[in-house]
Amino acid sequence: MKRVILILYLLVLLLTIGCDNDETIVYQVDPRLEKYVQLFYSEAAKHNKSIPKNNLIILVTKDLLATEEKHAVSRNTSGDQVKIEVDEALVNGTDTLFLEFAMMHEFGHGFLRRGHTTEYSIMNPHRRTVAGYKRNVIERGKLLNELFQ
Ligand SMILES: [Zn+2]
Repeated sequence: MKRVILILYLLVLLLTIGCDNDETIVYQVDPRLEKYVQLFYSEAAKHNKSIPKNNLIILVTKDLLATEEKHAVSRNTSGDQVKIEVDEALVNGTDTLFLEFAMMHEFGHGFLRRGHTTEYSIMNPHRRTVAGYKRNVIERGKLLNELFQ
């Protein structure tokens, strides 16, 4: 009888573990990056896009650039969960407009499901586009309009 109970217990445990690909809603954003989330949501609202507010993970990762040659990356997650990692040096650095560009780019992948393009777009990670984004508020406005089209 004890053995049957043990097997049942293990079965329940396995079923419980097997359910971890169920969509769990998580909002876990590094406080240093919260303002970029707010910027994205306010731009989305301006462009009449409704973005779910509570299924987002943004982590600051040490040496992401060194290990993956990326300043920021969107991880493939199941369902609607968006998970982004950002290199710690970029977050702590002084190039805040590049950080802002990188965040908008990753939100473009994660929330808007956009891929890369060769057009003049935030989804084009080429330095020409980054330079445009950093140039002035008018260029930023153009690029943000394009992002939400
Ligand atoms: Zn990208």
